[in-house]
Amino acid sequence: MATLTEPSPSLPLSFEDTATAFASKSDAQLNKAYYLFWAMNSNFLVRYGTAFLKFAFKYKIPLTKTIVKNTVFQHFCGGETIEECEKTIQNLAKFHIGAILDYSVEGEKSEKSFDETTEELLHTIEKADHNPNIPFSVFKVTGIARFALLEKIQAKQPLTDAEQAEWQRAQKRFDRICKKAFELDVNLLVDGEETWIQDVIDDMTYEAMSKYNQKRAIIYNTYQLYRADMLGNLKKAFADAQNKGYYLGAKLVRGAYMEKESLRAKDMGYPDPIQPNKEACDKDFNAALEFCIENIEKIGLCAGTHNEYSNQLLAKLMKEKNIASNDSRIHFAQLFGMSDQISYSLAKAGYNTVKYVPYGPVEAVMPYLFRRASENTSIAGQSSREFNLIRSEKVRRRKK
Ligand SMILES: Cc1cc2nc3c(=O)[nH]c(=O)nc-3n(C[C@H](O)[C@H](O)[C@H](O)COP(=O)(O)OP(=O)(O)OC[C@H]3O[C@@H](n4cnc5c(N)ncnc54)[C@H](O)[C@@H]3O)c2cc1C
Repeated sequence: MATLTEPSPSLPLSFEDTATAFASKSDAQLNKAYYLFWAMNSNFLVRYGTAFLKFAFKYKIPLTKTIVKNTVFQHFCGGETIEECEKTIQNLAKFHIGAILDYSVEGEKSEKSFDETTEELLHTIEKADHNPNIPFSVFKVTGIARFALLEKIQAKQPLTDAEQAEWQRAQKRFDRICKKAFELDVNLLVDGEETWIQDVIDDMTYEAMSKYNQKRAIIYNTYQLYRADMLGNLKKAFADAQNKGYYLGAKLVRGAYMEKESLRAKDMGYPDPIQPNKEACDKDFNAALEFCIENIEKIGLCAGTHNEYSNQLLAKLMKEKNIASNDSRIHFAQLFGMSDQISYSLAKAGYNTVKYVPYGPVEAVMPYLFRRASENTSIAGQSSREFNLIRSEKVRRRKK
């Protein structure tokens, strides 16, 4: 297996170097990734494979879990438990890439499961405590509170007494998680979700920032720049933070729920919150990077993107402002199993680079895996890029 040298900040930033991108992968692992992305390149296989897996899990067809765990799960996830993620954390650390343990159990609805998720999230924060290989923790508010309740609150509908009590419990869980992150000095990302619950998530997150971001950015909100209003929201959030005297933690992403957002807006007859086209989304994402760098004295920035240009732009903006590549206020973030050409190259060049490492019981993580598969079809375009890079690396190794 090839190895990397120590990070060297003087290296030019290029994402074409497949030897760097796949340095952590043995030939066998590379082959496995090749066949996985080959399969995901096929819209047919993704569509029918997804339907088949849903059926197979529902009717408990033997070996389904084993097959999934050894293929797609293994590629995109760290394991089923924090302990199982240890190897992945160490492997990433060898290449100076941090791990963000992302407990990816979705769609739960019971108070019991919200309490269990809260306990698990507290463990991820404890695991990150004094651990340079885990620079952030992360969570989704819908992992600790019922989606329909958040929706009702945002719609300003009256809550029943039972719902009032439920809301109090959700707020308590949220504060426990943020407080723990503050006490252990661990950066905490609050993921961005659907627009019809996001105002509630924003309110909770800003309240936590005003409490815990007095000395530096610990709590980070997510800004989905595929929303037409988001660049304005980011600027307003910064102005509010300035007025109230706290640091703003900002994770910038383009956004993962585009089709769902547009469909709902159409069905319910309100204006689509999504940008008119990809160019407008890119323009605002890159403008948001510039805004954060201009105000970096009072912002903690985590750029969550697989877009090569946006990553290069951020590196360029840092250079123009004479910001060291390893400045602790700035992180580049990608998802485990995707865009290694970006993560490994950034880390090699000395930038703070992190990867979300999803984990959880295989069946519970399936919605996350279905999203990755659909994002990686040839329609979405990402897979072709991943697939071509893996193919180039296979050719390069053969010629060696
Ligand atoms: C570390 C990390 C954390 C993330 N956290 C979150 C999160 O908390 N919440 C969340 O929603 N997503 C999150 N994402 C997913 C992210 O929002 C994107 O879906 C994904 O990263 C693809 O965008 P990109 O910037 O990598 O690159 P690109 O491939 O350049 O962009 C694709 C994205 O552009 C946008 N887009 C595509 N077509 C159009 C169009 N016609 N009009 C407008 N916009 C368009 C969509 O957002 C699409 O996903 C995260 C991603 C990463 C890497």
